[in-house]
Amino acid sequence: MLLDPPGQTLPRAILGRTLGTVSNAPAPMISDDDAMVVALEEASAAATAGEVPVGAVVLFDGHIVARRHNERETSGDPTAHAEVLALRDAAAAIGERRLHEATLVVTLEPCPLCAGAVWAAQVGRVVYGAADLRAGAMGSLYNFAMDQRLNHTTQVESGLRATEAAELLTDFFAARR
Ligand SMILES: [Zn+2]
Repeated sequence: MLLDPPGQTLPRAILGRTLGTVSNAPAPMISDDDAMVVALEEASAAATAGEVPVGAVVLFDGHIVARRHNERETSGDPTAHAEVLALRDAAAAIGERRLHEATLVVTLEPCPLCAGAVWAAQVGRVVYGAADLRAGAMGSLYNFAMDQRLNHTTQVESGLRATEAAELLTDFFAARR
């Protein structure tokens, strides 16, 4: 299951027809920023569903293999965080429970639960948007990704489209007051 963002598939198909070529060209590599835009779409979908707006995407081999949002209220599952759901989907899509070659792109800094899931899945790289000063476990309160006492460390980049991610959260909580 490979989920390209909307608009990626159609132009390639059109290009193939126009040039009269067989469409076996390599698929476009999805950038971190492209992936974050999709994660932000997921976060917006969460807000629409009455869920705290956090969205997550997993990149593997240049493709988006999973995109999910927080579903705690809908599912009644306290562990249904966007990252956990996306990592489960990604492992199923790839057919491998270890995700060394994958990148998790998430709108908000992972909490201890999700940083634990990243460790359990041995995810190679995480890119997150807004820092979470109240529960962040990749630099704010804890840093599970860099703790040498654990048997796996993860490369982390932060701050990508952080303002957009934070605004979704601020607007969501403001509307509920
Ligand atoms: Zn979490």
